[in-house]
Amino acid sequence: MKITSIETFILHVPVTRSRIEDSTHRLTHWGAPGVILHTDTGLRGYGYTGTHAHLATDRLIVNCIAETYGPLLAGRDPSQTAAIWEELFHYPPAQWVGRCGITQLALSAVDLALWDLKAKAAGCPLWALLGGSPKKLEAYNTDGGWLNWPLETLLEDSKRLVDEGYAGVKVKVGSADWRQDLDRVAQVRKAIGSHPKLMVDANGRWDLPTAIAFGRGLPDLGVEWFEEPLWYDDLEGHAALARSIATPIALGEQLYGIDQFRSFIRAGAVTYTQPDAVRLAGVTEWWRVADLALAHRLPVVAHIGDMMQVHLHLSIAHPACRLLEYIPWMRECFEEPATVKDGCFAAPERPGAGTTLRPDARERFGV
Ligand code: MG
Repeated sequence: MKITSIETFILHVPVTRSRIEDSTHRLTHWGAPGVILHTDTGLRGYGYTGTHAHLATDRLIVNCIAETYGPLLAGRDPSQTAAIWEELFHYPPAQWVGRCGITQLALSAVDLALWDLKAKAAGCPLWALLGGSPKKLEAYNTDGGWLNWPLETLLEDSKRLVDEGYAGVKVKVGSADWRQDLDRVAQVRKAIGSHPKLMVDANGRWDLPTAIAFGRGLPDLGVEWFEEPLWYDDLEGHAALARSIATPIALGEQLYGIDQFRSFIRAGAVTYTQPDAVRLAGVTEWWRVADLALAHRLPVVAHIGDMMQVHLHLSIAHPACRLLEYIPWMRECFEEPATVKDGCFAAPERPGAGTTLRPDARERFGV
């Protein structure tokens, strides 16, 4: 099998109720700049990354795919995922301008498309190619807990999602008043009862004293983890916070590679690792990070920048995964969207990585 041509695309997909907010982001659309790798077999590999649907930066990503990585991919055998990844990751002109950021997001899209092709050529879903078998993979839902939801909506959504069978819900915090956030979390706990999992996520907003004050209020509320309490790269701060509060810390959606994960893990700054294949340069690096977490006996709960397509396959296959996030925004884009039944993800059946777009996706959401 050889790659014969490369085609890029940009999708902008509306979010729930036309706008969502967390402590640092306001979105009306989720962006998916991506690539289709055409081959001489007729098979096509689909890959993409996740953005805030800002057209100018999305264009930088697809330009990097087409003009920087594209010439290196022409004529290559896409099953050589590790070799191609090494070459692209270390490609001097790209590495010089970014070992994180746009070059890494672009490489993520390429690597996902390569793995999609590899699984399609093998005639099986990616989870099977990676040696997995269908298992109980619980789903928790983030789409009812946005910071701009009024309290009444937050409580209604949280209760409805738990009633629908989700194993838990995540509530966004990180506002200017941590006491008010703590009160919202307490009210959600009261509304959903003591059993369902409840997570909180500050999206990197707070400083250490605020995170400690808030975090010390969590043990009575049975909170599973405190996600991204501090600025994403603040390793020492997260380590200090982990020593100061009882609730485990979750992070990783903003980390770009195995070196950063190793540093956070060795510093005791993270318990729940949240690698994201659309930021970490694809399946190849995601799997290494998940193995690193497993070697430290830490759980892996993937962040879903891909909106649960590739991460569903990875989470089924990797032994450190038991739980996966759910957000429905991109369901109408895919031939086989991730599906939750009785609170657990169903194992995809079609060959590939789950990234194949429906024929009308680009007409409906393409920009
Ligand atoms: Mg998060």
